[in-house]
Amino acid sequence: MRVDPAEAREELAVAAATLERSLAGDDLPAFYAELRGTHLPFLAAGIESAADARELFRLCYEILHRFGGISPAVALALENHLYVSAALATLPLADDPPLDARRRALLAQMEAGRLLIANTNSRVHADKLATVGTRARREGDGYRIDGSATFLSLARESDLLLFVTRIEEEGPGIFITPLKGNPGLAIGDLLFPDAMRDSDTRQLTFHDLRLPAESLLVAGQDDRVAGLFTFQLIWHQALTAALFLGAAAGAIEEARRFLCAVRTKDDRPLSELDGMVAQVGRLAIRYRGACCVVRQAGEALSAVAAGGLDGPAVGDAFDLAAAAKYLGTQCAEEVVAEARRIVGARAMAGGSRLARLSQEVIFGPLAPEVGAFIERRYGKRALAAASFLDERW
Ligand SMILES: Cc1cc2nc3c(=O)[nH]c(=O)nc-3n(C[C@H](O)[C@H](O)[C@H](O)COP(=O)(O)OP(=O)(O)OC[C@H]3O[C@@H](n4cnc5c(N)ncnc54)[C@H](O)[C@@H]3O)c2cc1C
Repeated sequence: MRVDPAEAREELAVAAATLERSLAGDDLPAFYAELRGTHLPFLAAGIESAADARELFRLCYEILHRFGGISPAVALALENHLYVSAALATLPLADDPPLDARRRALLAQMEAGRLLIANTNSRVHADKLATVGTRARREGDGYRIDGSATFLSLARESDLLLFVTRIEEEGPGIFITPLKGNPGLAIGDLLFPDAMRDSDTRQLTFHDLRLPAESLLVAGQDDRVAGLFTFQLIWHQALTAALFLGAAAGAIEEARRFLCAVRTKDDRPLSELDGMVAQVGRLAIRYRGACCVVRQAGEALSAVAAGGLDGPAVGDAFDLAAAAKYLGTQCAEEVVAEARRIVGARAMAGGSRLARLSQEVIFGPLAPEVGAFIERRYGKRALAAASFLDERW
């Protein structure tokens, strides 16, 4: 990788301190301004070979885990930028030089201009699941897009937008367009005005957005589109787990500080009570186990980046990333709740880290894929096997 990982880690330590200060001062733009000046959001542009996917995953994991321990909402917003750019950078494209050149140009443009990218899958909440709220139709050499999308995180900080929509009579398409100041795009109110305010998740409306043909990244019912969707989701699920496990780590740290600082009425440190030692041990074991699954998903993802989208590695990475996100977000929710019970009422006092983690961690299991979907996919696979003992999990 072009960026020295040690330098990135130093930048991360400084950025984490800035995030704490910015949240305390209710000034997230200050955090983003400083972050844009670091390598952290633009590591994907520094990919030099497929083998760099592993290091990129590790660094993205560390960034999101660190920020997730401070604010899962902010980490979730940034995760959207990181997973999109990482997936674009590491998508195996040996047999597609034009798309390869386009993604390189885009990543270089983002790095040079310090640009952040948001994304929306154009889903809307309707009386049918998975309803897509936008439509594109061909108009001259370009496209015209209308409709609305329920979710757009990092909405007002992002410069670019990657969105998925349905192109009339053609199938799905993925477009990239400027977001800030675009007259064809209206960013709406906060979707989660209380708990997840700092993710800046908002509704997006497309008003006769006209785009030139070059705005279309890929389209149609072919393998390229399916491959990009799958590969993006692998990154998205694994990195979502990383950020919420950061919240779990933050909660264990709060419990540790409390137990080491406070004593019983007969003057024994709480950290020396056998019950407390065992309880913290149980939390640490669950946290560590979940982290291992996420790291393994990162290894599987790196194998796909190096080996291509055709082999059996893709299905394995996809399932593993889904399991990592399912277990990681569930583990984080449980660990934060138990840490809160250890610390007691002071955990929810104004300005406390555990209060913030408590209100934001519950969003982990809700996105990107819902648990109901992941469970059914695993259940069908397990039931379809001639013998579950033959599954090499
Ligand atoms: C904080 C946050 C930020 C987000 N930011 C973005 C963003 O920036 N860009 C973006 O594109 N998206 C974003 N999303 C949306 C995300 O990618 C998912 O689309 C969304 O979280 C799916 O949840 P839902 O409740 O809308 O799902 P729905 O599909 O509406 O499902 C609702 C419920 O229906 C049931 N259900 C669903 N499917 C099945 C099934 N197959 N079988 C049985 N039951 C089922 C489950 O009980 C499920 O909880 C965000 C979501 C959150 C929570």
